[in-house]
Amino acid sequence: MDLSLLALPSDTWTRSAACLGLPPEAVFARRPAEAAPALTACARCPVARQCEQTVAPASSWFDGVCAGRLWHNGRAVALTRRPRRRAAT
Ligand code: SF4
Repeated sequence: MDLSLLALPSDTWTRSAACLGLPPEAVFARRPAEAAPALTACARCPVARQCEQTVAPASSWFDGVCAGRLWHNGRAVALTRRPRRRAAT
């Protein structure tokens, strides 16, 4: 995720984001196929709750991936297949 787009200091929870380093087109995807890498990252993200609280996708009319869902104009996009979760190690 491009942290500058969130306008947050780099020493916040965003440093632990599992999507850190993914291309913006994956995190801010409009279509499920493009969002797949970010959705997969969300499944193992330790800061998903903070992400959802900060982005507040429904009230911010967010477009992109947040907390394991793809959003379009603040509405969760129904996905036909969800990415597999990684097995716990
Ligand atoms: S929940 Fe998903 S979009 Fe949010 S920081 Fe984690 S990996 Fe990124």
